[in-house]
Amino acid sequence: MDWKRGIIVKKGFAVIGLGTFGSTVCKELYHLGNEVLAIDIDEENVREVMNNSSYATVANATDQEALESLGIKNFDYAVVSIGEKIQPSILSTLILKEMGVKNVWVKAKNEKHHKILEKIGADRIIHPEQEIGIRVANQLDSGKITDYIELSKDYSIIELVATKRVSNRSLVNLDIRAKFGCTILAIRREENVNISPMPDDIILIGDILIVMGHVKNLKRFEEKGV
Ligand code: ADP
Repeated sequence: MDWKRGIIVKKGFAVIGLGTFGSTVCKELYHLGNEVLAIDIDEENVREVMNNSSYATVANATDQEALESLGIKNFDYAVVSIGEKIQPSILSTLILKEMGVKNVWVKAKNEKHHKILEKIGADRIIHPEQEIGIRVANQLDSGKITDYIELSKDYSIIELVATKRVSNRSLVNLDIRAKFGCTILAIRREENVNISPMPDDIILIGDILIVMGHVKNLKRFEEKGV
């Protein structure tokens, strides 16, 4: 554990490739209090994140020695966001996995890229535009859904706005898990977040419910339960 800017540094992340996606991930992780090593082959892109990373440096992500000398293998996570060319993205991912980085998340350009990344052991393959597209469609489809996180093909976490139907009722009274197979993980009311709701906690109209479950059950809950 390390101390930086007066707060506890949580995890170590290496972000490789600092285009729009990579630099956004880098800045956000850093502002969330993490140690972030930022790498790009282009000096200008490195300069851009200088003040929004723990350490930013110019390096070629396909150069194993360069990555070794940066101590990448000690990082918990590496994010590879070299999108425009498939080859350096694949090579870099391969090197990171061979060096033993446990969690390597990679931005994929297309299906072929995705398949290769899967074969060489990428831990998560990201298609930012498709993922955002799905999120936006879900938000548009339901006026109640304010956010959406896909955990797997079948399971998701959604944020729903509580309507009159559930207002002034307790969780035990609503019996959501038994009736809909969904779990209320947290309830947000303005600035306050109740992260371990108790059975007799009361829901009010306008509360944001953070709910986890099978997509079919979530859909049912959203349509009939909330
Ligand atoms: P976006 O679409 O998110 O804007 P890109 O995928 O176009 O981003 O950005 C890729 C980034 O990866 C660029 O900043 C580019 O300089 C960087 N890059 C390309 N090849 C390498 C490499 N071999 N090593 C490190 N960074 C690289």
